[in-house]
Amino acid sequence: MARRCSAVYSPDLTCSCEDGSVGHLTFAGNPTMKHKLWLLPLLLLFLTTVRAQDKTALVGGRLIDGFGHRPIANSVILINGEEIEQVGTVATLPVPEGYQVISTEGMDVLPGLWESHAHLQLTGHADYIHWQKQYADRFGSEIMPASAVQLLLAGVTSARDLGAPLDVSIDIKTRINSGAIPGPRLFVSGPFLQHDVEDWHSHYRWAVSGPRDARDKVTRLADAGVDIIKLIDQDKMSLDEAGAIVDEAHKRGLKVVAHAHRPAEIRRGLAIGVDNFEHTGLTTAPGYPDDVMELLIERTATGRVAGGPLYWTPTVEGLWNYDRTVDNPEKLDSTCWHRGLRPETISDIQQSIRNPGQLGYTALTPLRKPTLKNKIAQLRKAGVVFLVGTDSGIPMKFHCQSTWNEMDVLVRVMELPAMDVIRAATYWPAVMMGVDDQLGTVSAGKKADIIAVHGDVLSYINLLQRVDLVMKNGVLYKIDGRPVEAAL
Ligand SMILES: [Zn+2]
Repeated sequence: MARRCSAVYSPDLTCSCEDGSVGHLTFAGNPTMKHKLWLLPLLLLFLTTVRAQDKTALVGGRLIDGFGHRPIANSVILINGEEIEQVGTVATLPVPEGYQVISTEGMDVLPGLWESHAHLQLTGHADYIHWQKQYADRFGSEIMPASAVQLLLAGVTSARDLGAPLDVSIDIKTRINSGAIPGPRLFVSGPFLQHDVEDWHSHYRWAVSGPRDARDKVTRLADAGVDIIKLIDQDKMSLDEAGAIVDEAHKRGLKVVAHAHRPAEIRRGLAIGVDNFEHTGLTTAPGYPDDVMELLIERTATGRVAGGPLYWTPTVEGLWNYDRTVDNPEKLDSTCWHRGLRPETISDIQQSIRNPGQLGYTALTPLRKPTLKNKIAQLRKAGVVFLVGTDSGIPMKFHCQSTWNEMDVLVRVMELPAMDVIRAATYWPAVMMGVDDQLGTVSAGKKADIIAVHGDVLSYINLLQRVDLVMKNGVLYKIDGRPVEAAL
């Protein structure tokens, strides 16, 4: 039986152990030295855990495992390398010899979060044309790695990146998966497929012209290794064109996400069999028309026949919180979004958002806000399966802040049960992407993607703004609320 000690990383270099003893880390040195040296064991520990070869036990916290049932009190999670070996409780699962014990006492323990609608090529700058012109050649070297590490430290261990140049999308995913750079597991779409494309954004948006071209473009994306196809403006395409995209994607085993800004876009999307709608509409209409509601209910009523549940990523946080950000822009001054960006990039972004209430991008937002509650209620009534996603990266929306804010608005404002929202950020996206055999829950045989946070997230979902522990693939990237720099 291993000696279980908590507060292994305490600054006073002691740890209290379950057998009643107190562990000490001793060394000679003055108090200043001592203050710095307490980081040493931390560093050594993580130099070994970065390789994910260690056996780790997360012990004592309340586990919300992603399946939606009652949380498991006093949980024990045994992790061997990259995988979760066994899950139990302090009473039923003693920690075997050789496991490094990390106390999760007083915390809620959850599967790593999914951000289902991120834009890693963007980091909050307000001027898209300027951004693409100035930064597109730095997406791979600076921008996307910065976005990735910021997401990861916010507790996001998987993300769908919906819209970026093809080569850099595949490259960044490959580098993260190989461990070369830190970030969430990425599921990338590469470029959007749409009807009309302007020159300035043609490197991350591809125009489709005719059914043959539609199939060719999907084939190119699939051959390059994308995980999902992103379709927008399908109502502006011919039925044959739009249908060919979904048909070819499904033949290649890829699902299709599509915008749902206009009723006609939803109608067309349903007609061609898209799997997942994004957003709630760019306009100020108060809700979805009756015929769209009927079509949605028809679709959710034929779930399995139609290829599974109808997923919907409403991305409401930015709209709901916009006027609050204008009233109190303090969150824009957080340095959490600076990580990985050059000083001149940071000041360029700061400059672009210095008047948060005057951006053309958000001119209609105050008029859209009152429609949101009704639309979310309609979608709930229609029986869609919500996914948590935010459009992270768009103006004033930083990767370190977006995901928890969406969960907060869905629970606190839209009155979705906290457990449902947690599942919309863990279990369901893994099912949607067909990787629920590996991800989305904390259970035996899954990848060790786990977060923990002090307090009761089912009562106070916004605790997720300060995740204390982040583990991905068995590697600790954050503990005691601090980044593990040796792993980053
Ligand atoms: Zn988006």
